[in-house]
Amino acid sequence: MAYANAQELLAAISPATGGTEVLDPATGELVGRVAEKSVSDLDSAVAAARAAQPAWDALGHDERKRLLNAAADNIEANAEALAELLSREQGKPLNGPNARFEVGGAAAWLRAATAYDVDPEVVVDDGETYAAKHYRALGVVGAIGPWNWPMMISIWQLAPSLRMGNTVVMKPSEYTPLSVIALGHILNEVLPADVLHVVAGGREVGEKLSAHPDIDKIMFTGSTRTGKAIIRSSADTVKRLTLELGGNDAGVVMEDADPQAIAQDLFWGAFINTGQTCAALKRLYVPESIYDQVCSALTEVAKAMPMGVGLDENNVLGPLQNKAQYDIVADLVKDAVDSGATVLLGANPDDSAAGYFYPTTLISDIDPGNRLVTEEQFGPALPIIKVKDSAEAIKHANALEVGLGASVWGSDRAKALEVAAQLQAGTVWINSHGTIDPRIPFGGAKQSGYGLEFGLDGLKSLAQPQVIKG
Ligand code: NAD
Repeated sequence: MAYANAQELLAAISPATGGTEVLDPATGELVGRVAEKSVSDLDSAVAAARAAQPAWDALGHDERKRLLNAAADNIEANAEALAELLSREQGKPLNGPNARFEVGGAAAWLRAATAYDVDPEVVVDDGETYAAKHYRALGVVGAIGPWNWPMMISIWQLAPSLRMGNTVVMKPSEYTPLSVIALGHILNEVLPADVLHVVAGGREVGEKLSAHPDIDKIMFTGSTRTGKAIIRSSADTVKRLTLELGGNDAGVVMEDADPQAIAQDLFWGAFINTGQTCAALKRLYVPESIYDQVCSALTEVAKAMPMGVGLDENNVLGPLQNKAQYDIVADLVKDAVDSGATVLLGANPDDSAAGYFYPTTLISDIDPGNRLVTEEQFGPALPIIKVKDSAEAIKHANALEVGLGASVWGSDRAKALEVAAQLQAGTVWINSHGTIDPRIPFGGAKQSGYGLEFGLDGLKSLAQPQVIKG
């Protein structure tokens, strides 16, 4: 059915009394209530998903594709209600690359999981020997997600899983459970019973899921620290893992870049979702020859971007989603300012205001070893580091233990490609940052995780390769 607005959708998924209150990070008002589940509820969900899996697999690819496309239709039919709920719970504005964009992306990524055939691959056929690789369902996939893009990332985890014949038990972040419960509800209006379960709960539910003997694979997106805990807790059952972990993406500006031309894309590369994005630009290295021009072009763009309550159609930047993240951003910026770095914009939060709003902040003349540079801020504060040339930028960019994305900005493509090849990151964008695409594989290098999502690679990673010889 189509829900007219978030309130109607909430009435269908959220208990009227009891449960845990979920508050709007922009206003502190009640969004809804969530009936948190216990570890024994998780066991029942896993058992039901296990029982449903053989029939779901037996439906075959074509029927699963049809159902997933019908589920995408249902997301689109409820797009406005979903976007409003997402905006109120996560904080992101309706407009800009935010709530409506995320709901649209969720439908698009769901459809993209139906866009490929995963055929058996003949690996040897020489007249004497015949061997082919087949892609079989794994069984039940456990999905554990973060709070920054709760609907989109849930789809990244569940869509390829379901497409390949697995059933799914999903545990959303405790900060944004309603968005994922609502999305699951919309999908389950179309999907067969028990193919998708959403079990809201805290980290103990995530821990239990990643150790559960009846879960075959974990799709995890979140911090590197939690990723390491999941590696440990999944070890005894040798689970397959896809880990999309934290990043601290570097942007390298070349001497031949045009500051005015790149300023807008640099801004959104860093400040999409108010900086709360895994593959956002989190430290920008600029050569001294054009340093001042880049700083002032970026400041002009940043100044013009309205921040405020998400449901106000004017805003394109919102609050931090939670107090803990607000404190991280405030602490890192304070450290930078105390060290003598220059504040180009922001860095003066109004602590008396309602909501976790931290102003758009640009910091220049900062030491490359400052914590705002070397630690993931995950918020609206970008350090701009002056370097002599791209060789120095590459050295700094590769110095950290993480390597999710990176970008190179310049007008000479050949030179940009040379720099890109030297950056230790799962994706390097040229003249953009974080512009993901459902057809293009995405995954981290170093401690930003392992495994690929999206495209054909993403589908194969939700399957058990089976070789048949003879
Ligand atoms: P988080 O690691 O704190 O939490 C993520 C999820 O893990 C939550 O659902 C949480 O309940 C669960 N969890 C916590 N402890 C667990 C445990 N021991 N075992 C199993 N599950 C457990 O991350 P977050 O704060 O929600 O998200 C922010 C982080 O996620 C940032 O570092 C960001 O860079 C990263 N991130 C990465 C990507 C990516 O694609 N690489 C995307 C979005 C966010």
